[in-house]
Amino acid sequence: MQISCPNPTCDQPLSGPKALLGRRFSCPACGHSFIWSDCWHAGDSFVIYDLETTGLHPEADEFIQIAAVRLRAGCLCPEQSFFSFARPRLRISSFITSYTGISNDQVRDAPRPEEVLCDFGRWAGDSTLIAHNGLRFDGKFLAATCRRHHLPTRAAQCIDSIHLSKMLFGNTRGTGHSLDQVKSRLGLRDTSLRRHDARGDVDLLGRAVEEMSRRLGLDAAFNGVPRHPTLLPHA
Ligand SMILES: [Zn+2]
Repeated sequence: MQISCPNPTCDQPLSGPKALLGRRFSCPACGHSFIWSDCWHAGDSFVIYDLETTGLHPEADEFIQIAAVRLRAGCLCPEQSFFSFARPRLRISSFITSYTGISNDQVRDAPRPEEVLCDFGRWAGDSTLIAHNGLRFDGKFLAATCRRHHLPTRAAQCIDSIHLSKMLFGNTRGTGHSLDQVKSRLGLRDTSLRRHDARGDVDLLGRAVEEMSRRLGLDAAFNGVPRHPTLLPHA
């Protein structure tokens, strides 16, 4: 594949195999070190988010809690966070209550998931989203919520932080990339925040993303990390 050196003062045409995607590379012309990519981004504003849901099926289940924190120029902004419960149509099962700590009582007065999602979309603005397993899980709940309630949508981009873990720790068979595995490999500390509550998970994921980005030497736009399209309600 053909790309140009991303160093603006160089712009050297480079060619290499597709296997270079996501790998660090030094430009032979100028020495600039970068992660090989066929697409360059400039924005440095990200929103790290996490959902808790009534179950695993985006078409049948609904989210009951969302938490998010902003990451800008490679640094977490803990004072810029978003949090809400959401009141699902289905009752929250006792299994989910014991897993997440979220009970039917806690969501009784909360807005519906589609209202929460509209607020979240406005708050997120045009930031790129980041979610752990967002490609297979959280993003599907965002899209299903929009679809079920006929919300006008806009396209947004999302990074699945599992890709960051794969880039950092490798993707050989048996290397797990669950948030707990990432946490222990990075040596991140526990806090008093409850895990499997979206606030606790997003706090941990935020610190994990910040640390993985630092260890990978990513730029502020996370260039070289794959992105996937996701849907948010139109503002
Ligand atoms: Zn160069």
